[in-house]
Amino acid sequence: MPSVVQVEPLTTARALRGPFDYLRPDGVGVGSVLVVPFGHRDVVGVVTALADASEHDPIAPRRVLETRLPPDLVDLAMWIAAEYCSTPARALSLLLPPKGTRPKTALWAEPSDGDHFARLTDRQRALLSTLPRFAGPDLAALRRLEARGVVRIAPRVVRRAPLHVAVGAARDEPALTAPQAAALEAIAAAAPGDRLLLHGVTGSGKTEVYLQAAAAALAAGRGVIVLVPEIALTPQIVARFVARFGDTVAVLHSKLSAGERHDEWARLRAGEARVCVGPRSAVFAPVRDLGLIVVDEEHDSSYKHEGDPRYDARRVAERRASEAGAVLVAGSATPRPESVHALRRLRLPERVDGARLPPVEVIDMRDAGRALHPRTHEALVDARKAIVLLNRRGWSNFLTCRSCGRAWECPSCDVTLVMHRSDGLLACHHCGHRERVPTRCDACGSVSIARHGTGTERLESELDGPVFRLDADVAVPARVLAAFEAAPRGVLVGTQMVAKGHDFPDVDLGVVVDADSTLRFPDFRAEERTFALVTQLAGRAGRGAAGGRVLVQTLAPDAPSIRFAARHDADGFLAGELERRRALRYPPFSTLIRIVCSSEAPGAALAAAAAVRERLDGALGPAPLFRLRGRERAQVVVKAEDRAGAVASVGAAVEAVAADRAHRAASFSVDVDPQG
Ligand code: ADP
Ligand code: ZN
Ligand code: ZN
Repeated sequence: MPSVVQVEPLTTARALRGPFDYLRPDGVGVGSVLVVPFGHRDVVGVVTALADASEHDPIAPRRVLETRLPPDLVDLAMWIAAEYCSTPARALSLLLPPKGTRPKTALWAEPSDGDHFARLTDRQRALLSTLPRFAGPDLAALRRLEARGVVRIAPRVVRRAPLHVAVGAARDEPALTAPQAAALEAIAAAAPGDRLLLHGVTGSGKTEVYLQAAAAALAAGRGVIVLVPEIALTPQIVARFVARFGDTVAVLHSKLSAGERHDEWARLRAGEARVCVGPRSAVFAPVRDLGLIVVDEEHDSSYKHEGDPRYDARRVAERRASEAGAVLVAGSATPRPESVHALRRLRLPERVDGARLPPVEVIDMRDAGRALHPRTHEALVDARKAIVLLNRRGWSNFLTCRSCGRAWECPSCDVTLVMHRSDGLLACHHCGHRERVPTRCDACGSVSIARHGTGTERLESELDGPVFRLDADVAVPARVLAAFEAAPRGVLVGTQMVAKGHDFPDVDLGVVVDADSTLRFPDFRAEERTFALVTQLAGRAGRGAAGGRVLVQTLAPDAPSIRFAARHDADGFLAGELERRRALRYPPFSTLIRIVCSSEAPGAALAAAAAVRERLDGALGPAPLFRLRGRERAQVVVKAEDRAGAVASVGAAVEAVAADRAHRAASFSVDVDPQG
């Protein structure tokens, strides 16, 4: 019996080198959560290993907490810590259920043994016949029966079940199309740890394949994880899983209360729920005997976590599937070049009803001079239901003074402020700074202020008929989607949120305003993003009998991403893109690692980045980035073939520079596989 436990204290300090040894209390194993004395205080820690002896003189933990992580998740956390240049403590913190919540209980009444029936009134007999159940408002009457020994009352755990806004009616299991059946068969025949890419055009019925693959896994006694981009934006797929599998589905996401999340986590941990649907963090769900992981809309950028550790849920899903012997199925109409390169591809080449994908017309905006081309205007008047994508929220992009040229900028970031008219505010979309819309220029006093550009708020006001707006300023996106679905006609206008996997059969027009907004980013993924956005938006139109069409407004009608998207030619796009990346040594033909140094002290970020660069052969930079939240920033980029080696040397370089007193004013963040 090992008598020592090795514990990672959950502190955020990077310099700490765990694990630390403690005496092993009875019943404690890998994954146990303890409170341990650490320095001058008590901290929570997770047991990562057991040992027979210690070189130190271990002391006893203070307490053993009720929560216990499955050992396979502890291993996964250790892998994430190394893979993303983070610490075990930070990785383990991601995996723990919400803190400080206890199971919720209510009073449960059940008949006690023995025959007391004779002495009861009719009303009491009627009440007794409704048991066992939670006492609820009948508690007083039940207490009287308890006093006479007829009923037992005791607390019992109540499940805090999250409510789902229903979008899209529940549908029965349809007969599969031939390509769906073939894909399902390939998934069933896959070996443990296999990775498959379900490349199906928009409306080809990928969700039905996931549902039936999940049913097969459940029938074989295995559990399932389904990752979706963002629960708030993808209520349809959640609703379809809940409708098909009922209570065996647990939904995990950040909008749940801590209590709800705790209960869903506990139901999975106990094996009561066997299917978990959720956004990227659901990849850590404590699902037992995992047999299948689905990554829906695998191209979606929300799978990358933007806090330390900067993990990519798609990569974590691959690791978890291979460790668990589960099959991984990633699905998309616009798969990433990385996935096409590495995964075995299954295809759904047609829409389920055999309908053609809608024709796409590219509109050259180089001399249009306003947000909507006259042809777009006309099409919107004719359309019954339309979806309009404009990837910019707010009223206008920025304000300038007509007399002195001053532009309104964020005091803490080097960016212009965006006007939100309904709130009467200018807002920074990077740090959240807000100020009132100015009535005059505080530099020269002029009252002549120009508003430049058009955002979703302004476009909403310029469109006729019922308009539904969907962007990050909307509180409950699922409500907007439900209202648009229920309306007989209207326009859904919004940011990339409108291009997610929504399935509305009666949309007969799709419009992309300013298709090159994503192309203008200086990033090797700009083409890929633009292709995905245009193709995904086009995929929302023409799903029903009425057919449909798509208009794409652009200043760059000849960009490959836009030309291929207009022809629905994913293969053509992917072939060209992979060739380009091979030539330029971009992922998947290398690993990129970005190191961002930041500081409030002038010049310190650039100096720290230069010092990091100095220690890394062949690194690029340092390059200054725009100031963010009052901090200057500079970055260094590493492009490497040997991933593990590069991660290790970046880790060592950052650690050395961070430990150098000359750079103590700087902070460091390492991003492996940055997404732009
Ligand atoms: P995708 O995710 O590939 O864009 P969906 O899964 O949203 O497509 O499916 C599009 C529509 O087709 C949905 O309304 C779905 O219920 C329906 N559907 C899926 N499979 C079939 C089938 N075999 N027969 C008829 N309808 C189907
Ligand atoms: Zn001015
Ligand atoms: Zn700001």
